[in-house]
Amino acid sequence: MTMGQPGDRFPLPAPGAYGKDGTMTCHLTTLELPGGSGTDIHDVTRQAAQAVRDSGVRSGLLTVHVPGSTGAVTTIEYEPGALADLKVLLDKLAPEGAEYAHDLAWRDGNGHSHLRAALMGPSLTVPVVEGSPALGTWQQIIVLDFDNKPRRRRVLLQVMGEAA
Ligand code: ZN
Repeated sequence: MTMGQPGDRFPLPAPGAYGKDGTMTCHLTTLELPGGSGTDIHDVTRQAAQAVRDSGVRSGLLTVHVPGSTGAVTTIEYEPGALADLKVLLDKLAPEGAEYAHDLAWRDGNGHSHLRAALMGPSLTVPVVEGSPALGTWQQIIVLDFDNKPRRRRVLLQVMGEAA
């Protein structure tokens, strides 16, 4: 790959500008969260920052991922009003008790859970800058569990990048 050639839409750093004297590392932390009441919302910002510290990564990426088709990850201002508003929005978009082809086929009653999870997505990537996730002051990372049965939800916090 050539860098910085005339006609490029934006300049790129020279090869090796990132991690030239460092060591790439990958670090995994898992969390277990309770869930199953319909829409459980967990603030995992503190655990995510701790996972980044534990990794030793100074610059790189944090990925928060929830395996499973009824869970999701996003960010929000974690305060009661915004959380209530989000639940109202999800109730409008994919109401519980509506008729879903998934429920007709599988009889598990969580068609709305799958749709809510699909809308919000299972993962979030946050840049790691100077050893911390680059989040706004009022921006918290939340894991949502939409399933309607009690279960323990596993969350993966994976940090990749250059250790100091
Ligand atoms: Zn299902």
